[in-house]
Amino acid sequence: MLRPFSLSTVLTAVFVLQIIFAVGLLGFLSFYLGNWAIALLSVGAIGSSVVVGLAVVNRVLQPLAQLRHAIQATAQGNWQTPLPVESMDELGQLAWAFNAMAAKLQDSFTELEHLNREMQRSERRWRQFLDGIPLGIAVYNREGTMVFASQQARVLLCLEDMPSVPSLSLEATCIAYRASTGQRYPTQELPITQALRGQPGWADDIELRPGNQPIPIEMATTPIFDQGGRVEYAIAAFQDITTRKQAQTLLADYNQILERQVADRTAALRQAEATQRIILGAIPDLLVRFSGDGVCLDVMNAGAVNLLADPSEQIGRPMAEVLPADMAAERMHYIQLALRTGQPQVYEYRFRTDGGWHYEEARIVPSGSDQVLAIVRDITERKQAEAELARQRQFLQNVIDSIPSIIVVKDREDRVQMANRASAALHGITPADMVGKFDTDFNPNVSIFEASQQRHIHQQVIDTQRPYQGEQEIINRAGARRWYQVVISPFQDASGTVNGVITNCIDITDRKGMETALKGANEKLERLATLDGLTHIPNRRRFDQYLSQEWQRMVREQQPLSLIMFDVDYFKPYNDSLGHQQGDEALIAIAAAANRAVKRAADLLARYGGEEFAVVLPNTRRTGAEIVAKALQKEIADLQLAHPQSPIGDYLTISIGIASVVPTAEQAPEDLIAAADAALYQAKRRGRDRYWIRLI
Ligand code: GH3
Ligand code: MG
Ligand code: MG
Repeated sequence: MLRPFSLSTVLTAVFVLQIIFAVGLLGFLSFYLGNWAIALLSVGAIGSSVVVGLAVVNRVLQPLAQLRHAIQATAQGNWQTPLPVESMDELGQLAWAFNAMAAKLQDSFTELEHLNREMQRSERRWRQFLDGIPLGIAVYNREGTMVFASQQARVLLCLEDMPSVPSLSLEATCIAYRASTGQRYPTQELPITQALRGQPGWADDIELRPGNQPIPIEMATTPIFDQGGRVEYAIAAFQDITTRKQAQTLLADYNQILERQVADRTAALRQAEATQRIILGAIPDLLVRFSGDGVCLDVMNAGAVNLLADPSEQIGRPMAEVLPADMAAERMHYIQLALRTGQPQVYEYRFRTDGGWHYEEARIVPSGSDQVLAIVRDITERKQAEAELARQRQFLQNVIDSIPSIIVVKDREDRVQMANRASAALHGITPADMVGKFDTDFNPNVSIFEASQQRHIHQQVIDTQRPYQGEQEIINRAGARRWYQVVISPFQDASGTVNGVITNCIDITDRKGMETALKGANEKLERLATLDGLTHIPNRRRFDQYLSQEWQRMVREQQPLSLIMFDVDYFKPYNDSLGHQQGDEALIAIAAAANRAVKRAADLLARYGGEEFAVVLPNTRRTGAEIVAKALQKEIADLQLAHPQSPIGDYLTISIGIASVVPTAEQAPEDLIAAADAALYQAKRRGRDRYWIRLI
């Protein structure tokens, strides 16, 4: 085939021929004419034609090169700016047509891209959706090859590790077992095989074993047909039904238990009915059903009740015909009451027979809208026993009432079981008012604290089984306090077990009063025995006692002990001139003044005898005693008791002797007295109204 020359080759050839032609023409002219001017002109013409030729070549070739570039770029997918269209000649039209084609191509390409993206997105979405649902979804093509498996499907089918949908056969992807048999599920029977045959399939006896863990599965499959009606795909949806299976098992177990229980109950009920009949036959009560108007409907059990009429004759007859009028009236009353209130009614009655009085208790129980059940019991023996008990109790009550002391029997909870008249009288009530109550119930003067203390004692008596003895002040209802000697003893009941306490209280208020009076008298006596009758300061007896006591103490503690003895100066002349009476008054005043001079609690001022006094000063050395001596002098001087007969002044004065010692066991208090006495003698001898000190 003849290959056409390229456009540039043609143009170049034309251009070369043109030059050859021009050079030839030039040679011919210059040779033929011999005219160099024309030759030059020709050279110029050739030059210009070369320029024109080059311009033409350029004008034609450049757009073609641009077009080629643009086409190449488009082919590579680079959508560039359109080619410039400079004129509407052939080349311009070519560029224009190319631009139009490129634009259209770009449009359709963009659209295609968009569609592709949309498709990918939608596929991603339904894949996400399928992966998200707890169902396993697997799609098989008509050849039985898996083309899609959701996340859950991959887990259940042990395909998790595979990166993408594996193109595996049905046998390879669905290794199923028949539930709880351990045998492979025949592939031909799998619901998915059914769907591949064009039938929807379902099974819940499939077991998959991902990780060797048997998981029961329910699988539903659907075939998808193509336009020709052939199966194109089969879709299998399956889910783990472990919990449902467990629930089913549980339910089955539970049903079994329930059935067993029902059977057991039924048997028990039958047994109970039989037992009931036996019991009914054994109970001694009369069981009769009455209608609301008193007609005997049924005698269920005759019992051992002493009947007034034969039970079989009562049925169908009104009560008034069977029972005495008053008994019938009473029973009717309670039947109506029971029916009205809906509450069982219990009442007792008695009647006389040849054998004496009979007692019965009737219990009327409503057993329907207009029916009652009467349960009648012979209580004659009980009544007799009760009467005997009451008689004995009364006897006992009479006995304890006759005892003047308080007697109370209490149970473990501290409730009064029995009390005598004397104890009730304390609170202004009767013994019966106390029974069953706590102390705090009838005596407002007993505090909770006292009650609990009392209870504690009672508990101790019960626990130790030993009586408690003590004296107690009890405040009665009127608020009067009285003293009692209390003996609380363990109280045994009839069986011999200690179940409470018996308290016996004897009023000792009078004795207490006498005791108090005696104590007071004794104290007074004691006081009198140690006090001086005239001056009311401690007497010689007390002085001796105290000195000896403090002497011992100072020996032990090795502390100084001082003794002051003072004597009124010229008291005989005082008495003689002013009278004995006045003398006594002076002694009283001196004692009081001396008391003011003696400050410490341990110091003791005493009348030693006549007009002589002594001061015991424990823990005091000589200097301290001197201070007390000066204070004595001053206090007595301040009295200014006029002494008309005194040779040494106008007023009464005293002379003082002081002795101090840190006593030892070898010495005696008498040594200290002797020393103080000697010092006093010195004070007298040296002119009176002064003190003198002597140390031992
Ligand atoms: P002197 O300064 O030496 O102590 O002289 P005096 O007179 O005080 O001594 P004397 O021992 O001779 O006298 C003490 C008198 O004190 C004797 C007595 O009449 C009087 N007297 C003693 N006890 C009492 C008393 O209780 N009442 C009265 N009124 N006088 C008493
Ligand atoms: Mg004297
Ligand atoms: Mg004297």
